[in-house]
Formats: sequence, structure tokens, C-alpha cells
Amino acid sequence: MDRDKILLTPGPLTTTLRTKLAMLKDWGSWDADFNAVTASVRKSLLAILHGQDSHVVVPLQGSGTFSVEAAVATLVPHDGHVLVLDNGAYCKRAAKLTTLMGRRCSVLGFDDAVQVDPAVLTQQLKYDPSITHVVLIHCETGAGVLNPLQAVADVCATHDKGLIVDAMSSFGALEIDARKTRFDALVAASGKCLEGVPGMGFVFIRKAVLDACAGRSQSLAMDLHDQYVYMERTTQWRFTPPTHVVVALHEAIAQFEQEGGQPARLARYTGNYQTLISGMARLGFKPFLDPAIQAPIIVTFHAPADPKYDFKTFYAAARTRGFILYPGKLTQLETFRVGCIGAIASFEIEQAVHAMALALLDMGIASGAPA
Ligand SMILES: *Cc1c(COP(=O)(O)O)cnc(C)c1O
Repeated sequence: MDRDKILLTPGPLTTTLRTKLAMLKDWGSWDADFNAVTASVRKSLLAILHGQDSHVVVPLQGSGTFSVEAAVATLVPHDGHVLVLDNGAYCKRAAKLTTLMGRRCSVLGFDDAVQVDPAVLTQQLKYDPSITHVVLIHCETGAGVLNPLQAVADVCATHDKGLIVDAMSSFGALEIDARKTRFDALVAASGKCLEGVPGMGFVFIRKAVLDACAGRSQSLAMDLHDQYVYMERTTQWRFTPPTHVVVALHEAIAQFEQEGGQPARLARYTGNYQTLISGMARLGFKPFLDPAIQAPIIVTFHAPADPKYDFKTFYAAARTRGFILYPGKLTQLETFRVGCIGAIASFEIEQAVHAMALALLDMGIASGAPA
């Protein structure tokens, strides 16, 4: 059957038919109609962040990582020193790209199963005054931990450090208000909680730091200041825009607004999350994280103890029934992940739980309980 499978992953996500249909047209990159769509998307993104007064938004071609890399290249001076707060795989990726771009990078490590600690950050900033910027992953999609954005932003503001936030898997679903939370840059992308298709990221940059960013990027394609200046002057993208991705995001944002914006999206994802947790508990599965620090975005489950379990077989058995699961990203423990985000509701999560129950049955596994 050629029906789309439901994607229980952290992106690409299941999108609505309406969003997909928006892509059935060709657009010229310098045509006024298309540039009006870009302008509208940028205006809506700033409104979601409540950042009209304090920030600008700069879209960039590519997956989300491209925009994280661009934010670091554009904001951090060559002699800057970045401190990455690390409690998972996406933090490690941010540290790696910072180092590869020739910026001095230190890592403040935490366990995968805990939030980063603002008190430890305070100590580190006092201990090493050479640090100029802090990188925080808001929702660490690796294990699914929600990190304390407000507290980290407050520490950075107190110590007058730049803060770059990767809010890729939280923007649109969790509340982020630029009027209350101070950051220099915040990065997200089209194909996450706004439920567009993947292909572009966008970076909110605080107006107060924007001018100083001119000429810092060692990369032409990653230079967000140049992209910004060009877009303001011409209304166009520098270099070929991902036209279909932009119009799909425009349509996805219209649905986001009709649904009731960020609070409604959070409510739907929270419903998905609760349905998932209770359904999986009935099958014996145990989540990896303490629910107190779990974001309702993606859930890591321990692999069942039964020796007959292996992820590939389990994945294939769920896939046959129309659901795409996601492998775990922890180095020490065998786990798998189930996303709660995308254009899906809790009845689809119930069906996914049922598909996993049947997958266990196929494999002759009586319970999902871990060791
Ligand atoms: C999805 C995601 C990214 C971007 O990953 P890409 O593979 O480049 O799309 C970055 N950070 C976090 C926390 C994410 O969830």
C-alpha cells in the first residue's frame, strides 16, 4: 500500500496534506510573489518568539545543523571562547562544529539523564573569564531532556556572556519568549515542531549584537549577517532559496496559528506524550528519563530484557504496521526512541502502541520490561 507511514521521529515529521499540497507549484527566486511569502514567514516566526522589538530572524538553506553552524560562525569572533553545556548527542555535535570552525571550545559535561546545571555554569564562568559565549541545547533530542533555558539565560545575562540556543526540537511547542528570556541567537528549523518539511533553518539574532557580526564568518554560505543584509535590501534570498520548503512552511504556520499557536501545539504534543507513556507502560516498557525532566517531544525507552529482542526486527515489525520508530542515541545503554511531534494526535499514538504490542507478539516477547 502506498499510504504514508506515520513518522515517530524527531524530524522529518508527518505533515498534513495541506502542507504537502502547498509544494505543487514552481516559484521564481526573485519573483515578488515568492518574496512576499518569505517576508510573511519571517514576520510570523518573529511573532511566535515575541521577538519583534528585540530580534531579527534570518532564514538559511539546509538542515538545522547548518543554521547552528552558521550561528556560531556569525556570532562568535575568531578569538572568542565557546562553552558548550553538554548532556547529549546534539551538544556534542555543537561542540564539534565550533571546534571545526576554528573557535576555541570548552565542554561542560553532564550526564545524559540529567538537566544541565545553571549553578555549575556560574562556577565555570567565574573560574574561566575568557569564555565569551555559551551554547545550550533547549531540548536535547538525544535522550529527550528539557534543559532549563530561563535559568541558563539568567546566568549568561548576569555574567554578560553571549548565549546561543539550539531550540530546534522545542521552538513552536515549548514556550520561548524573547521579552522574558535573554539570548543572542536562537536556532530552529522548518521540519520540526512547526510541522513544515525539512530544508531550511532560521536563526533569531538579537538586534544589539547584529552589527558586530559583520565580517566574522569565515564561510560565505554560512554568513547570517550577509544573508540578513542582502534579504533586507532586496527581499530575496542570497543564493537559490528552497522555494518549496518555504511555501510549505508558510502553509504549516497558517495551520499552527489556526490550531491556537504554541499553547495548542504543546497541549497536543503533551496528549501524545501521555498516551504514549501510559500505553507503553501497559506493555512493560520503561522510559529512560525521570518524567520531571522529560520534554513532551521525544521519549527514550529501554530495550526489553528478553534475549529475543533486537531493534531491527522490532523496527521492521512496527514499520509493516505503518509506524516508523527511531533508534536510541545513548552510547552506554540499549534504547530506542519514539517521537510525540508532527501532524499526529493521540489516537495515532494509540495505534502506534498497538503496533508495538503486535511487534512484541511477532517476536515472541511477553513483556517490554528492561533488565
Ligand atoms: C533536529 C535537531 C537538530 C538539527 O539536526 P539536522 O539533522 O541538521 O536536521 C539540531 N539540534 C537538535 C536539538 C535537533 O533536535
